[in-house]
This record gives sequence, structure tokens and C-alpha cells, in this order.
Amino acid sequence: MKAFNSPTLAEIITIGDELLIGQTVDTNSAWLGNQLFEIGVQVIQITSISDEPKSITKALDQAQRRADLIILTGGLGPTKDDLTKDVLCEYFESNLVCDEEALNRITDYFKSLNKPILEVNERQALLPDNCESLINNYGTAQGMWFERNNKVFLSLPGIPYEMKGIMLDFGLAKIKNRFNSLPLFKRTVLFHGIAESELADQLSSWQERAQTAGVKIAYLPSPGIVKLRVSASGADAKNLVDNFIPELYKLFPNKIYGEGLLTLPEVVFTNLKNKGLTIATAESCTGGQISRMITAIPGSSEIFVGGIVTYSNKVKTKELNVDPNLIEKFGAVSEHVVTQMAESVRQKMNTDIGVATSGIAGPAGGTEHKPVGTVWISVSTIDQVLTTKFSFGQSRERNVLKASLSALNMVNELLNR
Ligand code: AMP
Ligand code: MG
Repeated sequence: MKAFNSPTLAEIITIGDELLIGQTVDTNSAWLGNQLFEIGVQVIQITSISDEPKSITKALDQAQRRADLIILTGGLGPTKDDLTKDVLCEYFESNLVCDEEALNRITDYFKSLNKPILEVNERQALLPDNCESLINNYGTAQGMWFERNNKVFLSLPGIPYEMKGIMLDFGLAKIKNRFNSLPLFKRTVLFHGIAESELADQLSSWQERAQTAGVKIAYLPSPGIVKLRVSASGADAKNLVDNFIPELYKLFPNKIYGEGLLTLPEVVFTNLKNKGLTIATAESCTGGQISRMITAIPGSSEIFVGGIVTYSNKVKTKELNVDPNLIEKFGAVSEHVVTQMAESVRQKMNTDIGVATSGIAGPAGGTEHKPVGTVWISVSTIDQVLTTKFSFGQSRERNVLKASLSALNMVNELLNR
């Protein structure tokens, strides 16, 4: 018997030879993990295995010793290499019987495609007699829900679209109902411009106190950004989490750019939109990436006027009136030049804000005084200018990404002043 208040434990088993040879990336586990987390179910292990019956049986045996809920995906297709259903039949000592409702749906499905139905397709309506079938509104392989010894086994198709469909239509609600999971509450605080290790170091006392109080902390870094997930479960989860957040804002007034699943460009976009401001870009080393990040957001035309990629010195001078003497004296990667770029693009495009980048993305082009990764960024408004030098690393791709995110963060900083 499970102890009262202990979390529901789950395991995910993804089945398919293609997963093991890197032909298909296992995105099902990631999606399922996230969905289960949201409903308070704790995934303790994810396993990928081949279509081999012995492997499937062994994985089931092991998983049911550790978890309350075992979710399988894959191996439910109509072809001979898909063996999951047969293995489950043997494992649960079931007989295959025709599910008339499923057969009707499969027949209708093929009619709607104007294709003849084959025997292998009809076979997909054969389901174990001791499972509950979960209707697949998106394809022909049904979901199968088994229970044994107080454990739930849920088998789903491998095709992500169908797997998600069944889970969203029926699976998640059934799991919630069956396990009565503890309520879970989380806030994700988004940091920019601070490394994960530095953040963890500065948060060590805060983290200790939070953990002692029963709050879980997770650092999720990606280039230029660290997401800090603060979560708790139980009746008092929200209060617990909310108690620990204000201190973060106090400790890092300029490093937090938002909360939730928002990206930095989305935060800047919303900020500009709410304030009724417009922006233009003059990009050198970022080559248009900032414009791309902004214009990827639906509705960006409300705030984004235009951008120009001024890669060569000649174009910097011709299009943005950058003084050639400044380039000669300080170099294109300099405070003077990038500031002129930002001011000039703002004036030329008649916007409230101009943002500019100039740097050495690498791998070549570095010098002793300006090594690869040196990037100057400037943000200009009618009455303020913010120009900063950054020293990123050796990777061209990451330098461009970090410079673009830093530029957006500087815009955000200026807006929040
Ligand atoms: P199946 O149910 O085994 O017939 O799976 C059909 C297709 O779904 C495979 O060919 C893969 O392209 C895809 N697929 C299977 N498992 C996964 C997984 N774990 N993540 C993402 N895609 C998958
Ligand atoms: Mg398969």
C-alpha cells in the first residue's frame, strides 16, 4: 500500500529499433515527462528498448517493481516489426478479441482516405480482452490500459501526433483520476546574463532554506539563459513556492527577464507592445539573428520596423553614416562604432529604440586586444544610450546566439529603468 501523500511514480518505456540507432529521436518521453510532471506524477526512469519481445518483457518486469504507472510507446503499427501488442497479450495472459467499435472506426478511416482496407489494418481492431481501449481519433492503433497488482500499464502508439492525441483526449484525465496525484505548483524564473554556476553559487543559502522547507529547485541552462524551476507538491504548494520567489528579484534585480515559458524575445516584444514603442536593428556580427528572433513572434510588426545587416565597414559608413575615422581609429568592433550604429538606425528608421551589434564571432579574426568572442552591443533611445562590451567564447554559433540574447536583454533593461 502506498503511503498517504507519497507521490505517484511513473516510468516511460519507448519501444523501437529506430530509437536505438539514432534514426528517430525519442521526443515522446520528453513530452510525456512534462505532461506527467504537470499533473504531479513523478517520472523516475525513462528507458528506450528494441522491438525484441524479450526486451519488452524484461523492461515491463523491472519497471513495475519501481513504479505505479508504466507508459509504453511504440510498436503498435500494423507491420511485422511491431510486436508490442503480442507481447502485452502474453504478459497479461489475454486473448485477442475484435473490438467492433475500433473496427468501425478503422473502416471509416480508410473510407475517408479512399483507400482499400488491408487485413493488417483490420488486425489493429484486435485488442486484448482484459484491457480497456483508449480511442485513437488520429490513426488506427488504439491505446491500451491494463491494471495488475494495483499497477497501471498504458500502451500507446509511437507516432507522436497519435500518442499525444490519445493522452490529451483520455489518458491524462484517466491517470489523474486513478492516482489522485498531489497538487503540484511551480514557478519558472528566467535569468539572463549570469552563468548557471554563478547563479547557483549566489543562491546557495537561499536554496538550502528552500529545500529544507520542502521546495524543489532545478537549474535548466541553455545558451545565455538559465531557467530556475521552483516547485512544491501538497496542499500548501503554492504558498511554499510563492514565499521563496521575492528574494530572487531582490538578489538579481537586473538578471531576471520574466517567468514561465516565455522566451526572451517574447518578453521584449510584450514589453515594447505594452509601452507602445518601436524598434529597429543594425546588426553586424549577429547577421540578422535579432531581427529573426523578433519577427518569429506573431504580431511583431506592431513593434518591429526594420533591420539592416551592416557587415562590412563600407556598408556601415554608407548605410548608417558611421564615421570612417572612428572605424580607422577604434576598429569596427568598438564602443564608438556600435553606438553610432544604434543611434543612426534609430534615426533612419524613425523608431523609439535602435539596437546594434558589432563583434568577432570567430573562429578567425581575433587579435590580442580583441579576441574571438568580443562583442560590443549598443541600445539607443532619444535620451539614453547603453553600450556594453561582452566577452563570449570560441564557438561562432554560440557567440551569435549569446550576442543576440544579450542585445534583447539590454533592450529589456533599458525599458525597465
Ligand atoms: P510505431 O508505433 O512503433 O509504429 O511507431 C511509428 C513511428 O513513430 C516510428 O516510425 C517513429 O517515427 C515514431 N516514433 C516511435 N517512437 C517514437 C518516440 N519515442 N519519439 C518520437 N517518435 C517516435
Ligand atoms: Mg515501431
